[in-house]
Amino acid sequence: MRQTTIMRTIECTGIGLHSGKKVKLSLRPAAENSGIVFHVSGPDGKREITPVPEAVIATGLATTLGKDGAAVSTVEHLLAALRGLGIDNVHVDAHGGEIPIMDGSAAPFVMLLSEAGIRPQSAPRKVLRIAREINFAQGDKRIKAEPYPGFYVDYSIDFPHPSIGKQRLALDLTPRSFSRVAKARTFGFLRDVEMLKERGLALGGSLENAVVLDERGVLNKEGLRHSDEFVRHKLLDFIGDMAMLPLPLQGRFTVSCSGHALNNEFLRHITAAVSPYLEEVQLEEGRAFAPRAPRPQPVGVDILPAHACAS
Ligand SMILES: [Zn+2]
Repeated sequence: MRQTTIMRTIECTGIGLHSGKKVKLSLRPAAENSGIVFHVSGPDGKREITPVPEAVIATGLATTLGKDGAAVSTVEHLLAALRGLGIDNVHVDAHGGEIPIMDGSAAPFVMLLSEAGIRPQSAPRKVLRIAREINFAQGDKRIKAEPYPGFYVDYSIDFPHPSIGKQRLALDLTPRSFSRVAKARTFGFLRDVEMLKERGLALGGSLENAVVLDERGVLNKEGLRHSDEFVRHKLLDFIGDMAMLPLPLQGRFTVSCSGHALNNEFLRHITAAVSPYLEEVQLEEGRAFAPRAPRPQPVGVDILPAHACAS
């Protein structure tokens, strides 16, 4: 299996979720083994930021990557689209400090990348594969990861709300199966949206780019795109959050009630210097081999302090 990049440079503009201002995004082809590289302006000039767990500096409203005062926010849906379509190498120029929120889903990025075209490169694809089982939890929020030669997610949510409740979706990620989650929009509660706007946050948030709920139901006139749009979006976010690594991640993940913050803590844990949970694998035609010696065996299961699921 070979690495891929896009065939030509492509651009789009949209609204920034945080600022409410117009922001611009350019995607350029990148050489083999470049990975996904963000180019972001900061007080001391341009910075290159590779999506690694330590580069995530905020997860509150959306995921923000930062380095030396340069930061880019709302990267998760673009990253999900790149991983979903199997694109290894691309330069991302983010103007305005944010990736445009577009319609709150990954579908506009899928269209953009499809328009650019995807081409195979010469070098074999490298991935980071879960090397052994891990259970990572905070109260009701859980991520179980197991070795698997692909990216499989079984995601459950349980929100005490009449329009959400219990939802579950399993997906074996391929460019084709990604279409099941690509259109699912981010969602939020009216009371939280109003509070954020009072504090000068989420100024670009609207019914144009999110499913908004009050106590009784969905406020968007057009309704939902899928009856289980909420769990589809959480699974989409999980794909984007697991893309905060220099190489694509492989494993089988059983996830319940997780969010950007726990997803990032999980990645920091499994990528720690002495972690036994990851191995780098090069994908050859029809087989895979690990070029590095296996890591030491782990001591046991990791359980973190408890927090409520709905918080
Ligand atoms: Zn999202």
